[in-house]
Amino acid sequence: MGRIAYVNGRYAPHSEAFVHIEDRGFQFADSVYEVWAVFGGSLADEVGHFERLARSLGELRIPVPMTAAALKSIIQRVVRLNRVSDGLAYLQVTRGVAPRDHPFPNPAPRPSVVVTAKSVDMRASEARAARGVAVITTPETRWARCDIKTTGLLPNVLAKQAAREAGAVEAWFVDELGLVTEGGSSNAWIIDADGVLRTRDIQSNILRGVTRRSLLGVVQSLGIPFEERGFSVEEAKSAKEAFITGAGSLVLPVIRIDETLIGAGTPGPVAKRLRELYIEGARPNAA
Ligand code: PLP
Repeated sequence: MGRIAYVNGRYAPHSEAFVHIEDRGFQFADSVYEVWAVFGGSLADEVGHFERLARSLGELRIPVPMTAAALKSIIQRVVRLNRVSDGLAYLQVTRGVAPRDHPFPNPAPRPSVVVTAKSVDMRASEARAARGVAVITTPETRWARCDIKTTGLLPNVLAKQAAREAGAVEAWFVDELGLVTEGGSSNAWIIDADGVLRTRDIQSNILRGVTRRSLLGVVQSLGIPFEERGFSVEEAKSAKEAFITGAGSLVLPVIRIDETLIGAGTPGPVAKRLRELYIEGARPNAA
């Protein structure tokens, strides 16, 4: 059976799932999105993603299309219809359809809502985590509101393509001070030379990663020393460990930054343990 998407009230095969050519998501990337990891058919970090969605919509003054409960039941239905046990659920809300003109349409159109879901091969995901991945560094070229999860992702697309061409899976953006902001679709972490776990603070121009927030809870419960403080590329390259987090990557060890191997060039013990604990906690049968 092919994949099924939800588009503005209809559940349709992907081949028949369309939005209007004057949808402002298509015309202007005037839209926000969320991605949930799905474990055992349930949405991981469910509430955190809905909270961030509400914030993103509010920051852009896009009307809330429906209650979180209604959205949740649509997402769950799409997950079921696509028989996703472990995978990803995607939600996009655009400002809606209106004749092309930059300012907000008045009266406001009904926001467009799209939901899709797909399975992830967890064996392949675990194998990749066991090997570790490479990242490249690249100058920060994004706008100053990366805290809003919009679909305006062209710099991220270009950076991640450059990573792929360099045999890496992620690109870390580096600001004008030489500090890493975050990845193209993940937050960046290191265990620095002093053994302190570090990730950039959310006051900076980064996405407030929901996985990041969840994992900080795990880190605290383990008593690992940590600081929400930016780090330079040099600090990252001389770190004991590095990893990335996100709904797609979960907790993914980084073993190479540009041409430099991190630590022993294999996934570090803390990153591996944090991945296990994060996934354990996200599975619906977690205690
Ligand atoms: N940073 C960026 C730019 C992202 O696109 C993402 C996820 O897509 C993240 C960080 C991680 O966020 P989350 O953990 O909420 O998936």
